[in-house]
Amino acid sequence: MSEKKRLNAMMIYKLLPQTNCRICGEPNCMAFAVKLLNRSVELKQCTPLFEEEQYAEKAEKLKELVAPLELAKETGIILEEEKCIGCGNCVVCCPANAAIAPETSGGKGIKDETNPDLIFIVEKGVAKICKLEKCRRYEPPRTSCRVCEILCPTKAIEILQ
Ligand code: SF4
Ligand code: SF4
Ligand code: SF4
Repeated sequence: MSEKKRLNAMMIYKLLPQTNCRICGEPNCMAFAVKLLNRSVELKQCTPLFEEEQYAEKAEKLKELVAPLELAKETGIILEEEKCIGCGNCVVCCPANAAIAPETSGGKGIKDETNPDLIFIVEKGVAKICKLEKCRRYEPPRTSCRVCEILCPTKAIEILQ
């Protein structure tokens, strides 16, 4: 299986107008690209991209490229259920899950929703995200945890940055 390249600021920058016009409020297009990746600005703030015909093709490509950022909400986590084999690694390894319900780190309590604050559960053989806002990547305090992504054997979990 070929590895998908992780989204980075240069990939975004290449599809921006690169005029450094500052209409978006950022000092240049690269700064905007970095902030877009961090989800602290929205693509629509680059108005020239959508208003000028010459950028129409780039605008479409960029919308597609950054769509996962929208899906990933605040944490940057995407779970692709079709890739999941229901192994339960994400439920067991997640430190936030373990803090909420210690029995999960021992491999128990993964098949039902008895604890509504768990981030991950496995239901009908597929992992499901229940309370993403309990993830340690979510403020406050925000950490750069990516244990679930590292330990998912099928790459069903992707953390965008
Ligand atoms: S509005 Fe768009 S083109 Fe202008 S600086 Fe911002 S990102 Fe670059
Ligand atoms: S990033 Fe860390 S805290 Fe967040 S869901 Fe994954 S393992 Fe849990
Ligand atoms: S670790 Fe990956 S494959 Fe295993 S249950 Fe979680 S998402 Fe599915």
